[in-house]
Amino acid sequence: MQTAEQVLNKIFDITQELYNEMRSSERRRGDHMQVFRLFAELGRTLAGADRASFWRWDKSAHKLITNAATGTDQIIIDDTTGLVGRALAENRTIVTNDPYNHPDFNAAVDRQTGYVTKSILVMPVSNCRGEVIGAFQVINKIGSGFDASADAKRLSIAAFICGMALESDLFLADSQRDKLTGLKNRFGFYGDLQTRYRHILEASSDRAPSSLIICDIDHFKRVNDTFGHNAGDAVLKNIAGILRAALESVYRWGGEEFIIFLEDADLDGARLIAEKIRRAAEASVCNFDGRAIKVTMSFGCVEIDSARSIDENIKIADERLYRAKEGGRNRVEPTLNFV
Ligand code: GH3
Ligand code: MG
Ligand code: MG
Repeated sequence: MQTAEQVLNKIFDITQELYNEMRSSERRRGDHMQVFRLFAELGRTLAGADRASFWRWDKSAHKLITNAATGTDQIIIDDTTGLVGRALAENRTIVTNDPYNHPDFNAAVDRQTGYVTKSILVMPVSNCRGEVIGAFQVINKIGSGFDASADAKRLSIAAFICGMALESDLFLADSQRDKLTGLKNRFGFYGDLQTRYRHILEASSDRAPSSLIICDIDHFKRVNDTFGHNAGDAVLKNIAGILRAALESVYRWGGEEFIIFLEDADLDGARLIAEKIRRAAEASVCNFDGRAIKVTMSFGCVEIDSARSIDENIKIADERLYRAKEGGRNRVEPTLNFV
């Protein structure tokens, strides 16, 4: 059993580490993984448990996924299984000090990891609308079993903060995604630029060049006018699928325009990739309501100049896209004269 002073010191250590981490200028992540890791550890200490984990509920994939867990790698289970699944489905805290005799206990994880679970406490966490989004779990109370009332009370601060951090991550991810195509949107582009692609705009002589492509569906208004708005939506989804299959770093810039980040590609590399996509789009057919709809796309490419802002670089790609439109559409600018 730890003394109150030891527990208090642990709280100060954890919150200071977290504060410094969140303030760090080296920060490249756009999520709260450190909050989950450190507050899972704080919850473990507060409840006097051997292990703690924080779970997020992926409702569309029907999975429960650990965002942080003591002593193991990430665990993913079906959301209908285990005590966590039960606690989330019924939106209530569950405590058992005899898990192997509990009907909802999932012994598979123990079998996989070789760990022996003797006691569990699971608390659901919710967003501001009261919808359950995840769960805080502690395992194996040291020296005794969990007390449903006293331990849940001690854990509530860790569960509350993990819940807020998860809600914030989910909200950010949602706001950066385009509902129609499933691609990241313009806000997501700038978000990634602040995190994973931050180095692209930092001047460095020993790094390979990076590029940008902006592309736009040709005469898309005609698709809407001829086949209707729902058909236009289907074409957008089809084109998004082609782009996503070719590249990970593609964003819906707006309307029927997309933007693509290419790390380690110079202008020629970008033009070749754009040409590949141009051909794939030209060859593809979108079947909607018994109609076969074909579209083409135009492309503007730029090798990123780190002496300019991202918006200045985008402007150059945009001017080239405009030139591709003026030049007859269904083409890449600067023009490739070797294909
Ligand atoms: P251009 O070849 O010069 O690009 O011509 P365009 O017709 O593709 O361009 P324009 O900007 O005139 O028209 C774009 C159209 O895209 C107008 C707008 O209604 C439509 N649009 C934008 N977003 C969506 C969407 O989410 N769904 C559908 N169906 N249409 C959309
Ligand atoms: Mg267009
Ligand atoms: Mg457009």
